[in-house]
Amino acid sequence: MRVEERLMRYVQFETTSDPESTSVPSTAVQLAFAQLLAQEMSQLKVEDVRVSEYGYVYGTIPSNTKKTCPSVGLIAHMDTAPDYSGKNVKPRLIQNYDGEDVQLNEQVVTRVKEFPEMKRFVGKDIIVTDGTTLLGADDKAGIAEIMTLAEILMQHPEIEHGPIQIGFTPDEEIGRGAEHFDVEGFKADFAFTIDGGLVNGVTDETFNAAEAKVIVTGVAVHPGSAKDIMINSLNVAQEFHHLLPHIERPEHTEGKEGFYHLDFMKGTCERTEMSYILRNHDGHLLEEMKKQMVSNAELINDRYGRKVIDLKLRDQYRNMKEKLDEVPYVCELAEKAVKKAGHEVINEPARGGTDGSTLTFMGLPCPNLGTGSAQHHGRHEVACVQEMEEMVQILLYLVQEVLSV
Ligand SMILES: [Zn+2]
Repeated sequence: MRVEERLMRYVQFETTSDPESTSVPSTAVQLAFAQLLAQEMSQLKVEDVRVSEYGYVYGTIPSNTKKTCPSVGLIAHMDTAPDYSGKNVKPRLIQNYDGEDVQLNEQVVTRVKEFPEMKRFVGKDIIVTDGTTLLGADDKAGIAEIMTLAEILMQHPEIEHGPIQIGFTPDEEIGRGAEHFDVEGFKADFAFTIDGGLVNGVTDETFNAAEAKVIVTGVAVHPGSAKDIMINSLNVAQEFHHLLPHIERPEHTEGKEGFYHLDFMKGTCERTEMSYILRNHDGHLLEEMKKQMVSNAELINDRYGRKVIDLKLRDQYRNMKEKLDEVPYVCELAEKAVKKAGHEVINEPARGGTDGSTLTFMGLPCPNLGTGSAQHHGRHEVACVQEMEEMVQILLYLVQEVLSV
């Protein structure tokens, strides 16, 4: 089956994850999709196919070589982002895209001016939505590519390769995709998540991440008799917020610049709660940012002569580069495969985390590769047929490169 046929079929399965849910996987619809993938893998004669109690799908393409080489893992996630509806996705194939604005439905248009990445698809075939849902190429394009690779390898035993482990995870979009990953049972020496955009992207770097919960406790009294008594926690919260560098916010940063992001705030005169996420590619700088917050809280507490601010910091995930630098050959394999496909490698640090960053610290080095899609998490999401085909080719080169390790 062609890679785009797989994608168009997979996206019709609703697999939206739910951050409010405490079950694993977070939504039952993901389990149905996991069962389908397991069934397909069995039909392709992939071995040791299993769906774990947590809804993870695993399988093995056994080695067909006498050479000893490492076991490589290929990982993609089954869920789609809760940011946008993933129900009743109706993918549409546009052949030979002309580079103009795309009318998704009567009201919704993907304008090239707003989405300049569209330019890279001119002359190629693209898959778009009907404007009412996201597409789900993030990350079903990755799944389609891994499945297509599996099919090719099973049909062409003359293509020599070592052991290949396949893993499809739930709940990546809500940051829990690695939580129940069976690293030991997966039996890979290293792996790649196929979950990026550009086919020539090899990402070995993510943010270091922490969160801060701030509780401001004020003193509420009748405003008519408040003089020298009232402490309005809403005002104190603003004081605290404005002590942070304004320029270090998501809307003012790019590349390897870190930020403080206030993502929740709610309060009354008596009590205000705020939460922040802190991000930086440089682990030392993240520590500095945390210290900055602590000293700001102390400053304000001193100013009021009491503990008005209670600050709790918690580390979330770490930049995988720290660990991947210990095994440089892993990224080099991917870079060789990308070059063999005729591309220059782009190594841009991810401004986020990936399941790979967690898996890397769980002992499975795991950089991220592209999928041939763009504009994820919304109705303007798009996948490109030729880029997905190229990605299958890159994976094919990759598993062959592993033979030389
Ligand atoms: Zn993704």
